[in-house]
Order: sequence, then C-alpha cells, then structure tokens
Amino acid sequence: MKTVVIDAGHGGTDPGASFQGSLEKNFNLSIALKVQSHLQQNYEANIIMTRTRDVNLSLSARTQRANNANADFFLSIHNNAAGGQGFESYIFNGTVSAPTRTYQNVIHDKIMNAVRSKYNIRDRGKKRANFHVLRETRMPALLLEVLFVDNASDLAKLKNPAFIEEVSIAIAQGVADALSLPRKSLPNVLYRVIAGSFKNRDNAEQRVLDLSRRGIDSFIRTATIGGDVFYRVQAGAFSEKSRADEQVVRLNNAGIRDAFIITDDESSDPVPAPTPPTPVERYTIEGETHLLAHQLDEFVRTINPRAPKLGAHYVKFGKDYGIRADVAYAQAIHETDYFRFTGVVDADQNNYAGIGATGPDNKGNSFNTPKDGVHAHIQHLYAYSSTKKIPEQYDKVDPRFDLVTRGSAKTWTQLNGKWAVPGTTYGQSIISLFIRNMNHAIEQIDKQKEELKNVIDEF
Ligand SMILES: [Zn+2]
Repeated sequence: MKTVVIDAGHGGTDPGASFQGSLEKNFNLSIALKVQSHLQQNYEANIIMTRTRDVNLSLSARTQRANNANADFFLSIHNNAAGGQGFESYIFNGTVSAPTRTYQNVIHDKIMNAVRSKYNIRDRGKKRANFHVLRETRMPALLLEVLFVDNASDLAKLKNPAFIEEVSIAIAQGVADALSLPRKSLPNVLYRVIAGSFKNRDNAEQRVLDLSRRGIDSFIRTATIGGDVFYRVQAGAFSEKSRADEQVVRLNNAGIRDAFIITDDESSDPVPAPTPPTPVERYTIEGETHLLAHQLDEFVRTINPRAPKLGAHYVKFGKDYGIRADVAYAQAIHETDYFRFTGVVDADQNNYAGIGATGPDNKGNSFNTPKDGVHAHIQHLYAYSSTKKIPEQYDKVDPRFDLVTRGSAKTWTQLNGKWAVPGTTYGQSIISLFIRNMNHAIEQIDKQKEELKNVIDEF
C-alpha cells in the first residue's frame, strides 16, 4: 500500500499569511483534512498527516516525518499572499525524479479542470522553487498555493465552504490518479461496536457521557427486539472486523465490560430514534461553580503559558450572579483560543466572550480592565439565562444587556445560533472544554495525593 503524507502548512503560533482576521493556517488545515478524508474513504492508501490540529510544527519535523515513513509522496498545502491572484503549484528547482514532474502535471491539471472555470480561478502555472519541504523530502514532493488570502476575490472563494470542498476533492482525486491508488471496494458488512444496550434511555445517556469523558465518541441507536425497545450505545462502526475487535478491547480497558459487536444486517433499527436529548444539553448556565480559580488558570496555561490570570474574577462574578463560572471560563477559552486572541477580537479589548464582535470589520466591545471584561461576560450570560434584575451592588457593564431576550437560553447548547451565528455545536464545544478542564483538575489532585503519600512514606 502506498503512503502519502499530507502537510497542512503553518499552525499554532505560526499563522502563515493573514488578512483581515483570516489566517492561512486555518484554510491549510481544513483543506488538508478534507483531502485526507476523501482519500481514506475512497482509496486504498496509508495517509499520514503532519498535523491534524492547530499546532506548531517545524519544517524539518514535517520532512523527517515523511522520510522516516518512507512515504511515496509528500503534498504540502498552503495559500499565497502578497500581491497576486490564483493558483500555482511547486516542485523542487534542483534535480527531481521523473515521477515528481508527472505528479505535478496530473494533480495541477486535475485541480484546475475542476475549479478554474467554475470559480473563475487564475492559473499561475506549474512552478519550481527551493522550498525546504520540497528539497529535504526524499520522495516526490509537491506544494500547492491555493489562492491568495490577501486578494479579496480569492479570499471570498477560500471562505466559501463549497469551494473548499470541491478543491479538496479535486486535490484528493489528483493524488489518487497520480499515484494510481486503488479504489476501495465498498464494504458489504459493517461491524458496529455496541458499548452497552439498555432498556432505560437514561442509562444509555449516562453511558454516552461516561464514554465522552474517556475520549470515546458514541451515540444512541434504538433496536426493537421481540417487541421491546433497547437503547444501544454505538461506539464506532468498522468495515473490518479486526478494527471492531480493537475497539472492544479499548472499551474493556476503559472499564466498559459489556461491549459487543453486531453486523449491520442484525440491527435493522425498525424504529427511527426520536432525537434524544444528549447529556450535554442538560448543562445549565445558572448553577454552582465547581472548579477553583487556580484550577481554571492552571488548565489554560497548559496550552498558553502567557494567559492572563482571570480565574478569580470568573469565580467571584459567577458566585454573585449564580452563573457557572467554570463553564463560562470554558466559553472564554473557546472564544479567545486559550486567550491567544487569534480571531477578530484583540487582547487589549478585555472582551473574553466576543461581545458585539461580528467579523473583521466589527471587533466588538472593549472593556477598561480584565475585571470589567469578565464582569460583562458573566452579565451577558445572566441576561440570557435569567429574567431577574442585575444584583443591586452592580452596574450594567454589558453594553448589549438590553438587546438580549431575557431568559431565552437556560443551557449552554441553547446559545447555539444565538451567541454564535451560525452555530449548531457552539454549546457542545464549550462543554467539552469544560470537561477537559475538570479532567485536568482531577489529574492534578491525583498527582498531589501521590506526592503527599510519598511524604508520609519517607517521613
Ligand atoms: Zn504558507
């Protein structure tokens, strides 16, 4: 089987080109992930990603990864900037193998044929350059510059999900054609891993939540057996039995002893499941804060050591307003990208919840101090979750307080489409960050327990 390395350019603190709040690294990653999934779904190939998240990665780490894997092809995905428009591709300008030139021709043409006239893309041609990732890779390597982020017309295309989808598929098909990757035969059997089957829906939902805490995705399917409805928690479906077996082992290791495998035809699912309220949808905005100020500050600093210490402000205002400050803090992490402010809001605005920010042309409100910024965030949540008056000791610090329909969101997921537009996963992302913060705190407490035990042992 052939090995293809897909390299999403830049990442982490290296945004690549940036223009009006749009960052090259993000476009690179979303294209790379779509190329990966299209290849994996349709072709027999071993796909290696240099990054699948927003992380820093040196150029040499990227090329070493490919060299160590003895890959058959290296594809780097970038966007262009600084005065131009359109698409171009690069191979090394020194000695290259014949397949390198062939691959460039096939992939470049495939992409241009797919999108050039449809999206009115300028073809800047097949080029050669002395780029690190082209020079230091020991296999055919190609770098794509997919449009210019600082050209208004190109940027509009990059922001168009349909264009991203189509160009990604064209790239994947170009790679498949160039390397003659065999097409996957459609699986005729699907092995579903069931991590527990329950007659009571609440128990199934509890299982889904337990699994998500252990980093395992699952959802509930219903099955009617002998007239009884069972709520089955499905944690993965695989076309290969061996992969399903591995998942059962993983579940066993996570303490789930009642996992089993069914094949597709057995689970006819005659009753379509009414959309169940998933557990995260029960997390209310109002309520007690469980994490302590330092546990909030410590968690964010595992990702961004320079994050401001806001934990104490969150805990205080959360308590005074009856808002779950630890979840609000997770919202701030989500909005500010761990207080790195990689979006439209700048650090000096002290606006941790993106209040009033709608895009690059409107960066939203600013607050005099970090404390005021936290206060406004909690107050804005209070506007959504409560119909009561602002506590007596406080002034109205949230400039958008009166624009909120009071009491219109009681839970975090009810903020979907309200705080974040459009948004179908906004609340879920916040809850998942909150759970990560909780798990981090639990780990720290476990460590401390061990340390204290050692002190007693050595006493
Ligand atoms: Zn780049």
